[in-house]
Amino acid sequence: MTSIAERPGIATYKQFIDGEWLDAVSGATFTRTSPYDGSVVGVYPNGGIEDAQRAILAARRAFDETSWPTSPAADRARILRRAADLLAERADAFATCIAAEVGKPKTMALGEVMATVDVFQLFAAKALNLKGESFTQQIPDAVGIVAHEPVGVVGIITPWNFPLLLISWKIGPAIAAGCTMVAKPSHYTPGSTLMLAGLLAEAGLPRGVFNVVTSETDNGALVGQHIAASELVDKVAFTGSTASGKAVMRAAANNVKKVSLELGGKSPNIVFPDAAVDAAVAGAFFGIYLNSGQVCQAGSRLLVSKPHQRRIRRQAHRPQPDPQARRPLRPRHHHGARHQRKPARQDRGYLERGKQEAKLLTGGSRATEPGLEKGLFVKPTIFDEVSNQATIAREEIFGPVLSVLSFDDVDDVIRTANDTMYGLAAAVWTKDINVALKVAKGLRAGTVWVNAYHGTGLYNMPYGGYKQSGLGRELGDLGLEEYMETKSIQIKLQ
Ligand code: NAD
Repeated sequence: MTSIAERPGIATYKQFIDGEWLDAVSGATFTRTSPYDGSVVGVYPNGGIEDAQRAILAARRAFDETSWPTSPAADRARILRRAADLLAERADAFATCIAAEVGKPKTMALGEVMATVDVFQLFAAKALNLKGESFTQQIPDAVGIVAHEPVGVVGIITPWNFPLLLISWKIGPAIAAGCTMVAKPSHYTPGSTLMLAGLLAEAGLPRGVFNVVTSETDNGALVGQHIAASELVDKVAFTGSTASGKAVMRAAANNVKKVSLELGGKSPNIVFPDAAVDAAVAGAFFGIYLNSGQVCQAGSRLLVSKPHQRRIRRQAHRPQPDPQARRPLRPRHHHGARHQRKPARQDRGYLERGKQEAKLLTGGSRATEPGLEKGLFVKPTIFDEVSNQATIAREEIFGPVLSVLSFDDVDDVIRTANDTMYGLAAAVWTKDINVALKVAKGLRAGTVWVNAYHGTGLYNMPYGGYKQSGLGRELGDLGLEEYMETKSIQIKLQ
């Protein structure tokens, strides 16, 4: 049989370790099929523990034996700016790879690439602003310096839903701080991380600073565990499900390494009676359907007052955006395929459960219209009259499934919104600033939007979760601090 790697149109990748493109030590490979039509999109090395060890040693050497960690911040900023420029030039190639591997529309993938450009520019600027503190006025005969230093070798483990953007939240600060890295992207979407490795080398990143190991499903967890447990790794930065995050945290205890975790969510989207109705309804659908609901911060619990419930019901029966899913690589299409076969099966379980627990308003099954048969498409789904104790209101479905709940007043909505193990994000829609602030202050969530969902354009604010949605923060100044150690230097004057 002809090997898949030899077939035209299929990208064949190698791992990037110590500045070299390498096959897996075992020689094994795996293939990835696109969720929107089942076609093969890439062949990747199936790296294992030995590959991870090589990558970790390369990162260790680059940290311990080269001048990278103490290099001038201006040099590291220049590399990040150059990487941003190269990425903008090659946005189309990166977006094509992301759209094919994730099954998301190319417009969205292009948006992801350009957001990544912004992240690299942001951390280039932050590198130039690195500084410590001094204590000069506490006592007459001593001076104190608070110095920040790169944390060391960082293990990076990432998911598939925004494969380029989410890794940039880790690579940007790691380069700005002077760390070295071993990355293990999701087995579903390794392509853009490998492309990025080549681009960073071209931008001037020294050999061994950024290494990538790719592994198939179970091997992926194995390699992830190895990186998380390794005594040669100083910090692990993880984005993924809460269950995997707990496993990473347990492994990291092996050498008490620093841990940052960006995990799952079941975020409340709260609409008060005085909200601008059109914007709130549009925000509710955008909040859940973006990337087909495969967004950690998706507004999957819609808490509405009674008048808005009627409006949601009317809107729910209008055509939803799934017909746009047919051609994810065409411009202007916003709703992509459901990502993987396993979650598609899980979706069916949740959809059936939802039909028992609540009232189905729309959707509730796979989309199999002509043109969609080969892909993994789930109809945008809305359940009404959902209790906050129902499974579909408590578990992260990670698909285009919205649970609508109702509330009586401010205290009631804060209580219901917080009654969850997650605390990643939330939104509140109202024209009353007092209500907005009361709710925003009362919610136990890392991000609260007012009259918006998924963002306002302020991308430089810290991002992360309360409760079981995570540990630590990404972006902003806090996102850089996660990649630095702090040293107190005390000088006795003689
Ligand atoms: P996942 O947890 O299955 O996998 C994430 C990564 O962890 C992959 O690279 C995987 O190979 C690796 N992995 C899996 N098990 C592991 C283990 N035991 N030890 C070490 N590594 C392991 O998650 P996913 O399905 O890829 O992504 C979806 C999840 O990610 C959702 O729960 C979503 O909410 C979450 N997510 C969170 C954020 C955030 O910023 N909070 C962003 C995106 C996605």
